[in-house]
Amino acid sequence: MLRPHLYQLVSFHFFLLHLLLSFLVTATPQQQHHNPAPHDINAAQRACAELQTQLGGSRIQTPSSPNPEYRNVATGAWNRFNALSEPACVALPLSSGDVQVVMKSIFKYSVKYAVQAGGHSAGAGWGSVDGGIVISFMNMRSVSYDPVRDVVTLQPGIRWGEALQELEPSGVAVLGGRLGNIGTGLLLGGGLSYLGNAHGFSVDALEEADVVLVSGEMVTATATNRYSDLFKALKGGANRFGIVTRYVVRTVHVGRSTEKGFYGGTIYAGTVVVVLVLRLGRTPPGAIVILPSQRDMKTSLLISSPPL
Ligand SMILES: Cc1cc2nc3c(=O)[nH]c(=O)nc-3n(C[C@H](O)[C@H](O)[C@H](O)COP(=O)(O)OP(=O)(O)OC[C@H]3O[C@@H](n4cnc5c(N)ncnc54)[C@H](O)[C@@H]3O)c2cc1C
Repeated sequence: MLRPHLYQLVSFHFFLLHLLLSFLVTATPQQQHHNPAPHDINAAQRACAELQTQLGGSRIQTPSSPNPEYRNVATGAWNRFNALSEPACVALPLSSGDVQVVMKSIFKYSVKYAVQAGGHSAGAGWGSVDGGIVISFMNMRSVSYDPVRDVVTLQPGIRWGEALQELEPSGVAVLGGRLGNIGTGLLLGGGLSYLGNAHGFSVDALEEADVVLVSGEMVTATATNRYSDLFKALKGGANRFGIVTRYVVRTVHVGRSTEKGFYGGTIYAGTVVVVLVLRLGRTPPGAIVILPSQRDMKTSLLISSPPL
């Protein structure tokens, strides 16, 4: 019988091999499939050149642009799958109006396009596209709370971690992703948050969305207005029905951090902390220490006040 650590080692290597094989199997055909035809590249290059004239070189960047953002978007997305594509240019809008200009050009030249918010998803043609235009929202990342309507307005480039930090002084939270660097694309295709058990999917909290349609027209979709079918389709539709430039979501009143008697989340502590806690022979007040695993010395603390 294999000893436990040898078994773990063998399984781990099988896992790595499996990961490598699945990457090769999925990545290779995707790259071949998405190699654009020369006329597509020409059309994209014409669209990019026209957009550079309209919006300027810092908002429309090509592989030869001096600014670093083209490379950051083309190769630096959180999900490295997006780095397999080489877009003809990257659009970095500052407003919905910029997105409208870009969409009009995409439509006029029939160019392939992709949209990148937090860049977490791996799907060929989703967050990046070979020979097409990638719209990155890295420069549209504001968040604001309206206490009268009790809603939060988000620009698509913000990450959930940043949004929650900004909202903390108001004592409200939004149903965002469970990792801080996940982006708002979650509102268009998922929505599991730490508050989900009590408040449902993140998409359930969506009140309205500004959407730039493929024609370049911008509409505001809600559950009850004339774009209610679009509103419904967005919840799972990702970038298939238009490009969202503004989200309005309902809030959850969680209180400010000083008012909370609990911490929800994971605290990673190094070996020194674990050894100290164990040497002291007692846990901090109201804390439960989950012992570190054999493989590493990280541990988790569940802290409650008053103690559980
Ligand atoms: C490590 C990890 C942890 C995760 N944890 C969670 C979790 O806790 N809860 C959960 O629900 N999901 C989770 N997910 C899934 C993740 O939320 C989804 O992949 C989500 O769609 C990512 O959004 P994004 O903005 O980061 O990614 P992106 O890849 O930028 O966007 C996702 C999709 O939406 C499209 N899109 C983005 N913005 C727009 C826009 N403004 N208009 C039109 N289309 C747009 C993109 O083209 C893409 O198709 C996790 C994924 C990973 C890899």
